[in-house]
Amino acid sequence: MYFNSNTLVYLDGEFVKAADASCSVYAQSLHYGYSVFEGIRAYKTPDGTRIFKAEEHYERLHFSCRAVGLPLKYSVAELTQLTYQLLEMNNLQDAYIRPLVYAATPNMSLTAPQESNLMVAAWEWGKYLGDRTLRVMVSPYERPNPKSVPVEAKVSGHYVNSTIACSDAKAKGYDEALLLDMNGFVAEGPGSNFFYEKDGELYTAPPGSILRGITRNTVIELAREAGITVHEKFFTPEVLQEADAAFLTGTAAEVVGVQSINAHVFKKPFEESIGALLGRRYSALVTGGLVPC
Ligand code: PMP
Repeated sequence: MYFNSNTLVYLDGEFVKAADASCSVYAQSLHYGYSVFEGIRAYKTPDGTRIFKAEEHYERLHFSCRAVGLPLKYSVAELTQLTYQLLEMNNLQDAYIRPLVYAATPNMSLTAPQESNLMVAAWEWGKYLGDRTLRVMVSPYERPNPKSVPVEAKVSGHYVNSTIACSDAKAKGYDEALLLDMNGFVAEGPGSNFFYEKDGELYTAPPGSILRGITRNTVIELAREAGITVHEKFFTPEVLQEADAAFLTGTAAEVVGVQSINAHVFKKPFEESIGALLGRRYSALVTGGLVPC
């Protein structure tokens, strides 16, 4: 699904067959989850394939590297350019792009390496959470404490928390998890940000113990452009009992409706909610067809 015998990935300065790209079992990153990554999408637009917010994503990759002390020798412009090349070489128009900065050197120490490795892969990927509205469960797993790890950085090791929360929700018959922060406030999904709608306004967790989602920022901008008030404030899961609707945002997930949280089903059908309106505007924006409201 991610690659076939012709697929190329970018690896440390060259384009190589994905099937030939490998990594030592002694790699520091493999043992300690010590790597950072991005999730980016490219869309087919009337002007050709366009990577959506490439600069923001690659700036966040640099931020993540700095946050954990991984060196990254490529500029944002170089990263963007090699990604366009990768898309072209793989003949991809609509694509999900996965850059990974990691330490491939055999090294069992707990000190940051002098050099890092860069791999960029791309593949066609439909909406990560599908098109249906989701049954979401408040997870017993909390997001990591920002005093323990830099939660605003996209660090591979943090996704152990995401993976166990998501698997647990699925094992209990739900589609997705919703994680709280260490103070009991709603933070985010395992790979997405969360919004709820109440009386025509939107609410979402403030930065601090969430990933500052690029889709989250885009959706906030689209909402404000449409005259919708967006509050970035802390709220507990109990508040959601009174909410009208909710949705998740992320590069892979895009904008996806939430049907219920635990046993509580939202009163407004997602299709009639602000989330659905913003989802349509988001699709139009990324594919180059957005008309001003
Ligand atoms: N939170 C987490 C934990 C994520 O992994 C993601 C996906 N990158 C998001 C939020 C959404 O971020 P973005 O909109 O930048 O993809």
